[in-house]
Amino acid sequence: MSKKPDLQAETEARPQRRSPRRALVSPVLLKTTEKSVGPPDERLFYLVARDGLYLCRQHEFFRSCVRANSGPSELAPQEPYFEPRFPQIPRDAIERAVGFFSRIADLHRSEAAVLLAWSRSERRVEIVVPHQTATVSESASGYRYPIGVHYDPPTDLPEDWVVFGDVHSHVDYAAYASHTDVQDELHSAGLHIVVGRIQSEPPELHVEAVVDEKRFVLQPEQVLEGYRARRAEVPDDWIDQVEVKIERYSYTTYRPLDSAH
Ligand SMILES: [Zn+2]
Repeated sequence: MSKKPDLQAETEARPQRRSPRRALVSPVLLKTTEKSVGPPDERLFYLVARDGLYLCRQHEFFRSCVRANSGPSELAPQEPYFEPRFPQIPRDAIERAVGFFSRIADLHRSEAAVLLAWSRSERRVEIVVPHQTATVSESASGYRYPIGVHYDPPTDLPEDWVVFGDVHSHVDYAAYASHTDVQDELHSAGLHIVVGRIQSEPPELHVEAVVDEKRFVLQPEQVLEGYRARRAEVPDDWIDQVEVKIERYSYTTYRPLDSAH
């Protein structure tokens, strides 16, 4: 009887953990129950628990488990990323939004906001102007500067519309995600576009996406079809959606510009 089949059988019967590839990787266990016990013959292993990754040791003199700063060195590294797959925002939509912000800036010197919704049935982007309260600070001489804009998400949209982002104006100030924006948008996954320097044509556009409390800066061309010029025609019912709250300027109510928007 040839030994060859026996050798083959022995190779196949070997536990998988003895294969060279497996031996290079530190064991990684999932903690699925309150009580966790490491593999008896492993002095070091990683544990994935609800609150993160842990490095555990079963040493001759102790057992330990500490939060791991990094994963097993045998694994490939991973960088956070965000790949936008949003519906492309038509040129017409962003031009109408900027036209609206421009008119509101002329009327009130205030910020304003619109929502971007995707109509699943029509397969197109719709602009939604929610009822909103824009706050401005006004000095004794009548000079105003914008503080912020707030709105509640509308509850009366058609069932097949899904809101995937918003656009708001910073009036004459730069387009960037302010501290207030970052706080407001922390749990608001999706696209957040800021329009700044509204007196310029084109104005400044700043685009960020938020997911799982992380922000990613996108290039406008990743989500916008383009922009040529703001639209002069603004529906009256859009303008009527903006309520303005005036805070009288005084040294006691003064807020540094950094806290605005
Ligand atoms: Zn803002």
